[in-house]
Amino acid sequence: MENTTLNHELQQRLQKCMPPQAAWNPVDAALFSSASFYTNYTTIQESTFRAIQHSFKHHFENNALYHRICHMNNVTPETITSPDDAKTIPLLPDAFFKDYPEGKGFLKWLAAIYSGEFPTHEFPMAIPSHDAIIEEYNNKGIHIMFTSGTSGRFSFIPRDLLSWNRLKYNAMVAVAELMNYDPDDTIVLLIPDPRQTNLTIASLFGIAYDLYKPENIHVALDMKITTQFLRMQRDETIGIAEKIKAKAMATISPLVQKNSDMKIIHLLEHLEKEGKTVNIAGPPFWLDRILERMKKEGKSVRLETSQVLTGGGWKAEEEKRPPEERFRQKVKDTLGIPQDHYHDVYAMSECSSIFLSCEGHYKHIPPVIVPLVLDEELRPVGYNTVGRFAFIDPLPQSYPGFIITGDRVKMLDHCPVCSRQGPVLDVEVSRLPGVEGRGCAAVMAELMQQEEPEHGTFPVG
Ligand SMILES: [Zn+2]
Repeated sequence: MENTTLNHELQQRLQKCMPPQAAWNPVDAALFSSASFYTNYTTIQESTFRAIQHSFKHHFENNALYHRICHMNNVTPETITSPDDAKTIPLLPDAFFKDYPEGKGFLKWLAAIYSGEFPTHEFPMAIPSHDAIIEEYNNKGIHIMFTSGTSGRFSFIPRDLLSWNRLKYNAMVAVAELMNYDPDDTIVLLIPDPRQTNLTIASLFGIAYDLYKPENIHVALDMKITTQFLRMQRDETIGIAEKIKAKAMATISPLVQKNSDMKIIHLLEHLEKEGKTVNIAGPPFWLDRILERMKKEGKSVRLETSQVLTGGGWKAEEEKRPPEERFRQKVKDTLGIPQDHYHDVYAMSECSSIFLSCEGHYKHIPPVIVPLVLDEELRPVGYNTVGRFAFIDPLPQSYPGFIITGDRVKMLDHCPVCSRQGPVLDVEVSRLPGVEGRGCAAVMAELMQQEEPEHGTFPVG
């Protein structure tokens, strides 16, 4: 596609996520005023502080829980007057979003972490399930994203429409600027259908529907993933008999997996023949399984113009993770996709920014967020030192986006490979020791049975 037409189409797609300019507050002004993050990083960053001031004041005034935390720390909107003060904004541990009561108290908890008026709803049942709540609030325009860590406990992040649109815009610009973007490209998503679940990994990769034509998007698994499904899969059911049944029903059987993988392999072979450019996106363990399957069947394709986007990390076991470089080579050997067309993204439910790697594999930090790397006493350590990742994210309106993660990163003040502006995260991001594995890929990996008996398992359904 010709460049100006392409820019025009991207602009139109971005426009759909933007409120009318007359309604912009300082957060919108920082995010939406430029569609290029990495050529205008410094300029945009100058307005990020005003966005943070606005956002902090909003959560301080509209979130009673966060208000109390700020008071305990003697921080108020009046004490945040310069970019340096931003570092005093009280940060929440990411575990905050899984610290909810079960049963009747859950809705109250959601309302308590929600900044502003949480719409009420009369559910027909006394204690509505998490899935009933997620579905009802989807209808009300509140997207409750969920992730499950290796402990099996879910995190829930409620996003109103504006917050969700800001995240989408942020992610779309990152993709357009860090990867080769053409809205006519073919997409292969190695995830369950994002239109049928609020699972974080699917929701985030599902932004493909905002960037590309739906008829060109192929989803590997046509399946509805609910919290109940994941809970059943974790044996959190009553009674032994039900437990056994639940386990079998809630695991994607090797046969279903194999059929799905073969369908994708045939698709890749077809696209190779047609000379199409394809973007293959999903958690790396899923792509790895397909590569292994291709090797076993003696198959390979040459997709030189295509790209890979991995995200969600490996499985629960950090030690099984190969260095990214080795995996990139494996992708090149089997799919013919060159290493500089391999991108990885670091993302999480709590954050409105995605950290997407450039052709040189460093993960670029968008301008409308303040990234922090903390030592063990939670003091900022700055560049070139390994520490715990935290961030001040002014974009969410429906919850305070001032968060400490359990992820270990190293930040560099500029990319060693490309000339895009702004700091980057070093290639490898991992979990801190002693912190439970992050949900997304872990949860997806658990769904897949690892052994290969071709008989005796129930297909999902
Ligand atoms: Zn770079």
